[in-house]
Amino acid sequence: MKNYRIALIKGDGIGPEIIDEAVKVLDAVASCEDFDFQYEELLMGGCAYDVTGDPLPQETINGSMNSDAVLFGAIGGEKWDNLPREKRPESGLLRFRKELGVYANLRPAVVYDELVNASSLKPEIVQGVDLMVVRELIGGIYFGEPKGRDENRGFNTMVYTRDEIVRIAHQAFKIAMTRSKRVCSIDKANVLDVSQLWRDVVTEVAAEYPEVELSHMYVDNAAMQLIRDPKQFDVMLTGNIFGDILSDEASMLSGSIGLLPSASVGSKIGVYEPIHGSAPDIAGQGIANPIATISSASMMLRYALNENDAADRIDAAIKQALVEGYRTQDLAQFDAKEICSTSEMGSIIANYAVKCTK
Ligand code: NAD
Repeated sequence: MKNYRIALIKGDGIGPEIIDEAVKVLDAVASCEDFDFQYEELLMGGCAYDVTGDPLPQETINGSMNSDAVLFGAIGGEKWDNLPREKRPESGLLRFRKELGVYANLRPAVVYDELVNASSLKPEIVQGVDLMVVRELIGGIYFGEPKGRDENRGFNTMVYTRDEIVRIAHQAFKIAMTRSKRVCSIDKANVLDVSQLWRDVVTEVAAEYPEVELSHMYVDNAAMQLIRDPKQFDVMLTGNIFGDILSDEASMLSGSIGLLPSASVGSKIGVYEPIHGSAPDIAGQGIANPIATISSASMMLRYALNENDAADRIDAAIKQALVEGYRTQDLAQFDAKEICSTSEMGSIIANYAVKCTK
């Protein structure tokens, strides 16, 4: 029997609550498949700072590197907001991504038919939305040098090298090949030199994927088009900061930030995590929606472990729970038949995952 080593980083706020539910569902699918999990809990974020004085202890990097995949909750909270920048939980997370070399962030945004009324957009605009933002994660303006500030001036640098663009573009085209073979590359090439290079290189890489249709769009227009007609998009390829903003915008198409998963992948170990943060405002109340994290566990099965049947089980189980009208508090006003706690939702999905095959 295969035994997968999973690094579990629960983090802060609602992190531990939602990871526990994802583990419940993973164990449920493992019970009907030919594999098992061995979990190692590692500290990161504010909780790591409290124990070790470092938001990203070396032990966490080592443990993650020795795993088959990392399942990550969320980090951060007001308690740590006034620490020096390098001690803050968010700095630990950026450093973690860099250390693992996870340069591609995959963020699917899918609108479940059962939740078309939960979106702030009209149902006819969002029904059937199924897009994937492929965001470059360890380059661009969040990492570029020089950067700095004094009393009167602050600055950051947006920089991309050809190699960084080539590898993220390949990710986007490969994913498009498994979907409807369309990539829209988002940039600001009318203003930024870095975007002109981005556009040229993406166009060069596209030549290796003749079946994929490539289009380009300026980021300001893309922000507008996502709201006007989101169904026009399949794979959206973006740099770091544009992808950060657009993927949060895309998340609202689905109705709750608590629904959306992500995968951060590179050449080594991948990190699978919900797109939301640690939600300190609802932590400890048992009302967080665990679906984004459970869905991230499904992406982990699919992309890191190649266990597609198990991933299909989880996806089908999530859908079934929504079809049956089970809702956590964030979606309570949308065709709910029963409001459930974080833990109840995890158990319902785990039970369906055992029964579902696809
Ligand atoms: P957030 O995503 O934590 O919360 C935004 C809003 O969405 C809140 O009202 C919250 O209650 C709600 N929400 C989030 N997840 C939910 C879920 N699963 N179910 C129901 N409701 C949910 O963003 P924020 O409030 O801007 O940030 C809080 C902390 O999280 C900050 O310290 C921030 O730095 C950190 N953060 C961490 C990550 C990460 O770990 N990857 C990402 C974003 C923010």
